[in-house]
Amino acid sequence: MEMLLQQCPCSGGKGSPLLLLAVVAGVWLLASWARSVYRKEGVSLMNKVGKIGIVVVLIAAVVVVIVVKSNKSGQGTAAQEIPAEYMPGQLTGKGLPALIDVGAGICIPCKLMAPILEELKKEMEGRLVVQFLDIGRFPALAEVYRISIQPTQIFYDASGKELFRHEAFYSKEDILSKWKELGVDLTGGQLQSSTFERLVPAKTDDRPKDSICYMCDGDINPKTLVTVQTDKGPVRLCSPHCYFIMYSCLTEDKAGFEKKVSVTDWVADKLIPAASAVYLYALDSRTGRPMVKAFAEAERARAEQETSGGNIIDWTMLQEKELAARCGFCDRAVYREDAAVVRAAGVYTWGCCSHCALGVAARTGLDIEVHEHDRLTAQEIVVKTLNGSVASLEPATAVAWFGQRQRPDGAWGSAGCFHQGFFVNAENLKKWVEQNPYETGRLISVSQTLADKMKLSPQQIQKACKIGECAPK
Ligand SMILES: [Zn+2]
Ligand SMILES: [Zn+2]
Repeated sequence: MEMLLQQCPCSGGKGSPLLLLAVVAGVWLLASWARSVYRKEGVSLMNKVGKIGIVVVLIAAVVVVIVVKSNKSGQGTAAQEIPAEYMPGQLTGKGLPALIDVGAGICIPCKLMAPILEELKKEMEGRLVVQFLDIGRFPALAEVYRISIQPTQIFYDASGKELFRHEAFYSKEDILSKWKELGVDLTGGQLQSSTFERLVPAKTDDRPKDSICYMCDGDINPKTLVTVQTDKGPVRLCSPHCYFIMYSCLTEDKAGFEKKVSVTDWVADKLIPAASAVYLYALDSRTGRPMVKAFAEAERARAEQETSGGNIIDWTMLQEKELAARCGFCDRAVYREDAAVVRAAGVYTWGCCSHCALGVAARTGLDIEVHEHDRLTAQEIVVKTLNGSVASLEPATAVAWFGQRQRPDGAWGSAGCFHQGFFVNAENLKKWVEQNPYETGRLISVSQTLADKMKLSPQQIQKACKIGECAPK
């Protein structure tokens, strides 16, 4: 406030000392004149002159008081006269996010902001409220918007909540990436659809518990069932691949862990120790994904190989292959065919899901490029980040599904990596949700997905997706 008054030429602070000085000088002149008259004409004349002097001084004093008063009330009037449409309640909370820039027409950074605000106002019409407020004309804005530096840019969400403020010049690129970082979408399509959610499954999951994979929630094919003995009882998994996903997420000591694992013999349909089985490892010609079949006897494996091709390998080799590609965020084992491709500083890694892929930016602190596929149509979506914000998104209409589940305490938490995804547009997402009646969660922007990861602490990143944290119960 003090600083503003110093900068602002409209303040009346300097007027009153000048007037006082003039009055003092006047009185001194009057007194000198009276003294000279007294010397010439004696006491009686002095009395007369003295009276005139007192009257003049009194008049001057009254004038000073009036001038000072009118100056002060002048300031007060300006403060009260902030036009109603400049008040926060009129500019914000009207269902659109708002960017308010408070500055004065005369300061240089304020002048540099003017064309940027003009552009944003035009480009974001109907999506963002952009308003410049002139503190030179309305000094009381300083108090209303709590301004100490000119210019200050204040970011409000659609409900009128202040999200962020920045002092001094702010470039257009920085303003736009800040909105993204704040999770506010300024693209029309995303704003319209950002309210989509399904918090109650369309269908109750009444599948027998034994037929559901502990890891992916998918149906268990009895021919590829894997079981793991744990402290909490046996865990049933749909395939060796889901077993290795679980294994890669474990935080406990894994020495000798394979003794707890049984796989299903492809021929006899019965459980056998995983470590002593042989495996036929073939690639599915349609999806390119590995197809793993377990056998108690190598002879049976060779017979199967005749028809389906592939290589016969042992448990150790299978483990090596399965753990070769890992999620760059949560370290989970992935099949490259299923994973998002992430490029960070020229090095490639994978994201086990779309959200984990963006998490690589949080984990490494690097700018990344993510190539992911729409979960419905497999169309490509490319996200590039810059300083922890989304710098570009192709197609621009792409959105994310944040799969969430309600915990017993009522809070909503992530439903795990298997339940996340990107889509080229909100329509695809809605179709996919329709086709997956057990899924619950909400549509969020790709920027929000990244922002959620960027705000994690190093400790939270360390624990990301480890069993017990985000694995389905
Ligand atoms: Zn599974
Ligand atoms: Zn992951």
